[in-house]
Parts: sequence; C-alpha cells; structure tokens
Amino acid sequence: MVYRLTRREFVRTAAAAATGVLGGMAHGGRGAAAEANRAAATGQGDPAARSSMRIDSHAHGAYKGEPQAIRDYVAECCKRGVERIVLIQSDETLFDTYARCPEFVIPVAQVDIDTIKPDEISRLIERGAKGIKFIGPMHSYGADIYFPLYERLCQCGVPAVFHTGYLMVGLFEKGGRFYEKPSLIDITDMRPAAIDRIVRGFPELKILMAHFGNPWWEETWKMISTHRNVYADFSGGTAYRRSMLMWSEMFAPDGNLDAASAGKLCFGSDTGYFSPGSHQFTDYIAFYERFFDRVGMPADLRAKINRGNVLQLFGLKA
Ligand SMILES: [Zn+2]
Repeated sequence: MVYRLTRREFVRTAAAAATGVLGGMAHGGRGAAAEANRAAATGQGDPAARSSMRIDSHAHGAYKGEPQAIRDYVAECCKRGVERIVLIQSDETLFDTYARCPEFVIPVAQVDIDTIKPDEISRLIERGAKGIKFIGPMHSYGADIYFPLYERLCQCGVPAVFHTGYLMVGLFEKGGRFYEKPSLIDITDMRPAAIDRIVRGFPELKILMAHFGNPWWEETWKMISTHRNVYADFSGGTAYRRSMLMWSEMFAPDGNLDAASAGKLCFGSDTGYFSPGSHQFTDYIAFYERFFDRVGMPADLRAKINRGNVLQLFGLKA
C-alpha cells in the first residue's frame, strides 16, 4: 500500500518534533521549519538551532515500513534539524519511496550517463524526478558525447547533480554498483574542471557538484564562484574531515567572508536515511555549523545554504 502524508499531517509531525509536544498542534501553523527559520532570522531561540532547518541535498536510502513509522522517522529528522531530503536513487526505489513520503523526499534519479538516452531522461522527469544524478562516466563529464543529455535537461528545466572527484574503489568490484561498466574508471573524468566545459555549452543548466570535487577543492571553488548556475556541497566522507583552516582560507581569505562563493554552497551529507534511530547526518550538521561560525556566516546566508539554494535549484517553493 502506498501511503501519503498530507501537507497538514506533515506540518503537524514536524512541529510536534521541534516543540517536543508530540501529538500537539503546531503554533503558527507552519511547523518546525518555519519556527527554526524565524529564530535564525531574528537571532532568537536555542543557540543550537540558530541556523535554519535544513534540506539535505544528498541523501540515500529507501523507505520500508508502516505509515506510522515514516511519520515517526520524519519527526526524528526534523527534531535533529533536517526537514526534507534530496533522495538520490535509481528508478523503482526512488519512485516507491517518493510515493510513500512526498513531503519529505525530493526525488533525483541516478542514471548511467553512458547508456541513458535523452528520451529516458524525459520519462524520468515525467514520473516525478526533480533532478538527474550522473556518476562514474567513461569519458569526461565535459565530453561532447554527453551534450544531448544536458540539452534535454535544459529543455526540461531540471538540474544535473554530478558526483565530482574521487569515487570509491569498492563500487567497481564484483557485486559493486559499477561492476558492469565496460572499462576502468578515471577519476579525472569527474574533475570539477570538466563542469566548466558544460557551462560554456549550457549556461542555463543548473548544476549541483556533489562532494566539492574531492580532492580538487580549489577547482570547485572556482566553478561555483564563477558560474551563476553552479552550486556545490560538502557531502561525502572527505570534505568534512578537512580542517576549518583550509575551508576558512578558501571562503574567508584574511578573515573576510566571500559571500558570493559561500552563498553557492548547499547543505549535504551523502548519508543513508530511513533507518530509525540512525542519524549520521548530524555529523554533517555539526561540521557546517562549525564552518559557519568559523567564517562568520550571517543568518541569511546560513538559511540559503541550509535550504534556500536547494529549493531554488530544484524549482520548489519554500
Ligand atoms: Zn551519494
């Protein structure tokens, strides 16, 4: 059975989680996200929640369980600061989970860039995909061979999410997701610099660079600071382990916040969701908060990074 949370139920759940009054009514009617955002904008409220609620721009997982379980799970996430997720999965897992919790999930279809055709991209978008994720190419992302795909995304007005930089070796071993690929992967095909050529061909294409181009940090910074429609996140296992010294040097050279480039970041974790009691994304919240504090990020920019940019990228209302 497919279960949908209505907007009203969702708001109630989120608000109850944020206020600790499970089952109670939402005051103000817009739920936890609105409460936290107001507190952030005014500088009031719990210092731990001074940044706005977040939309995780890079999440994985599949929902399996009873309707009450998803309500409880969403409440757990809201309580810990994440109100929605950009769920990146392949076909059926993605659409099944989206159908069960459309208020929580922003669906992005992960595809094989070397085999998918433009018409298949259109079909995924017609089914509800709000973006297309590319990973593990056999050629540079910037190669002409992929341009018909980018052209179709532009026509549909849907963003591309690119895995940028290093890709785990294990994914290409027997049983791994990319085992069937015809040749060995070359991580330089996923360098941030490859995005530059795409932008020159398709300046209107909205792009989210996942993992901040690990380890080509400077290249990623150049892409987001130069190209109007290019954004990046710190998701994955490496960026959040680098020092605040490195990140602050990049985004606040000599102690001066570079709002133009910092304002192109998105909150993202690349962690698994839908396992009750497991909230790995909290490590990423802690990292982003430390980063915000370190560079002196003002409330409006925090809100942009935490949720505003993702809403804009995927063409969603607040
Ligand atoms: Zn991922």
